[in-house]
Amino acid sequence: MRVRIHRGARQIGGSAIEVEASGKRLLLDCGLPLDADPEDDTLLPDMPGLRTEDASLLGIVLSHGHRDHWGLIPKARADIPVFMGAATERILCAAAPFVPGSVTMRAAGHLADGQPLTLGPFTVTPFLVDHSAFDAYALLIEAGGRRLFYSGDLRAHGRKGGLFDRMLRHPPAQIDSMLMEGSSIGRLAAHESFPTEKEIEQALEARISAASGMVLVAASAQNIDRVVSIYRAAKQKGRTLVVDLYAAEILRATGHASIPQTHWPDVALFTPHRQRIMVRERKLFDLLDHHQTGRVFPEQLAERPDRFVMLYRHAFHQDLVRAH
Ligand SMILES: [Zn+2]
Repeated sequence: MRVRIHRGARQIGGSAIEVEASGKRLLLDCGLPLDADPEDDTLLPDMPGLRTEDASLLGIVLSHGHRDHWGLIPKARADIPVFMGAATERILCAAAPFVPGSVTMRAAGHLADGQPLTLGPFTVTPFLVDHSAFDAYALLIEAGGRRLFYSGDLRAHGRKGGLFDRMLRHPPAQIDSMLMEGSSIGRLAAHESFPTEKEIEQALEARISAASGMVLVAASAQNIDRVVSIYRAAKQKGRTLVVDLYAAEILRATGHASIPQTHWPDVALFTPHRQRIMVRERKLFDLLDHHQTGRVFPEQLAERPDRFVMLYRHAFHQDLVRAH
């Protein structure tokens, strides 16, 4: 097996790793560099099969749904098989109408924790990892008697930190080479650590307690761990979490009964004007249908702002100014 790192070794994100065995190839991730212009057509890795047809390219394996790992896939041929987690596929599909420059990517096959996938001469075994993206995997690639381990993006301080401990206790055996993410190397001194989600939740509770009006929290709706922290802190303080249609759809797409949903009594949907127009223009009425039970309207927010914590996005700004 041969490995070629196209991008990501000297920068955070933009990851793209080509593996080759017996004349067949896979691409592990195909990310948009964090500092790149999404319109730049020159960024796609220079390898056979991405722009022009080449049967040696068996597919792209996507470790998780962050754009710095998938963002260049829409620039490649549309018929390349892409393999990803089932929840990643649902979340990317749910996000697509709201995210400029994205496309609805359909998975050719799904990654699932510990379940090997055979692609030509390659056996790909995904390991579910703790990361700010939901449904993220490290990948063991086996071919020609060699074993490559690609960590994807991973951490130990999220709500699924136990997965990191699991990997330390039972690491994949007899690895010949490891490609390890290092986005946090050097960011902390040896005695420091990142706050856990539990600590963040407690800090949020304290801030909500101290606030007399509405609390706005700016966080990515796709950072499900963080949304759960905000929800739990809000609930603890007797407040309702307000999300927009984008966040509501992302939460629904996780397919997880334990993750806050708009039909929960302490979660509400507020549809900003911009999103209402989007729904009308693109006839996406079925999106709203999923969230009818838990809607709030500007008058309710204006009347009792102290009852709400909002997962804030810029799309809300004009509506809040108007409702005030
Ligand atoms: Zn990531």
